[in-house]
Amino acid sequence: MSSYKIALLPGDGIGPETMAATELVLEQIAMEFSDLNFETISYRAGAENYRDTGVTLPDAVLEGCLAADAVLLSAIGLPDVRQPDGTEVQPTMMVGLRRAMGLHSAVRPVKLYPGAPCVLQNTGPGIDFVIIRENLEGLFASFGGGGMVGDDVATDTLIVTRKGTSKVAEYAFQLARRRSGRPADGKQIVTCVDKANVFRSMAFFRKIVNDASQSFPDIEHNAVYVDAMSLYMVQNPWDFDVLVMENQFGDILSDLGAGLVGGLGLGPSAEMGDDHALFQPSHGTAPQIAGKNVANPLATILSASMMLDWLGERHNDDSCLAAAAAIETAVAEVLAAQMVRTPDLGGASSTTEVAEAVAAAITKTP
Ligand code: ATP
Ligand code: MG
Repeated sequence: MSSYKIALLPGDGIGPETMAATELVLEQIAMEFSDLNFETISYRAGAENYRDTGVTLPDAVLEGCLAADAVLLSAIGLPDVRQPDGTEVQPTMMVGLRRAMGLHSAVRPVKLYPGAPCVLQNTGPGIDFVIIRENLEGLFASFGGGGMVGDDVATDTLIVTRKGTSKVAEYAFQLARRRSGRPADGKQIVTCVDKANVFRSMAFFRKIVNDASQSFPDIEHNAVYVDAMSLYMVQNPWDFDVLVMENQFGDILSDLGAGLVGGLGLGPSAEMGDDHALFQPSHGTAPQIAGKNVANPLATILSASMMLDWLGERHNDDSCLAAAAAIETAVAEVLAAQMVRTPDLGGASSTTEVAEAVAAAITKTP
């Protein structure tokens, strides 16, 4: 029997609703897989907590996250809750968590499930690639810093280090090894996305990824400029398997990726470190639809699947790996049936109904 301690951060807006939906699915998993147990602890952090207590991420919550086997977060931030400098609490809290937990690589799968709406007319042999975003440096290294030159010029600094880039590059190649390759021809390939023709920092990024590729002779490797990649992601997304890039480029291209495969309500994400990992949907708190039981819970549910996959890998736990696959299969089934869907996917079902449909579709395959 393996038991995992999971820290839950339901957060703000639709966060508590998509979290409750995901807890329902995890309870079903624990029932179906009798050798798996989850000890969940729910913590309060984020914009509402800041409004009530003046603290976004209490020390005790950070300690709880560091002590847990994994962290599942739904969404943080409310546009009308501002810090004294006028900024929202979400970036402060997320950058704080990333730095404290050492989460060097963000992972965003871009996968088109049959039955999910797609803006592309031609989806070729399918869309199934992963964006790996360097998560601690790049242009975000200057977060909280930045500078003014007099009153009329503002600057931010983009930092690329050998250490940070090596970590994210290595993670990309390792992930490519576990995947079944790009839809076009099954080739396992890591693509470095950069602007190496213009920026010294980017040329360095490309070089470090290239160096890392030497340790993975079984995985192909190429490089594409970020502007060209924005075109290719729309024109021939099936040519890609694992993309690795600097922080800000990853921030932008992962929203484009989410847009390609059905919108934010379907996009899970993970942030990986050497010792910790955090999982969360790629959407925000969508305050206009909060409290109505209409938010799409699938991105949070798929994030929980990524979490079990990570725990299974890390602890050599086949049952946990099977549970991760069972959640994804159940989500795919519910989407393919096109019966139970929230309004963002053109349906009329509630958050709870979608969660119940996913839970009902979970089966343990031997
Ligand atoms: P953030 O700044 O936190 O990224 P945002 O304002 O950019 O937030 P979201 O909160 O993600 O964006 O939402 C943008 C819009 O997408 C929402 O107004 C909502 O209509 C829709 N949306 C996002 N997530 C969901 C979801 N899970 N279910 C349904 N609709 C969603
Ligand atoms: Mg956003």
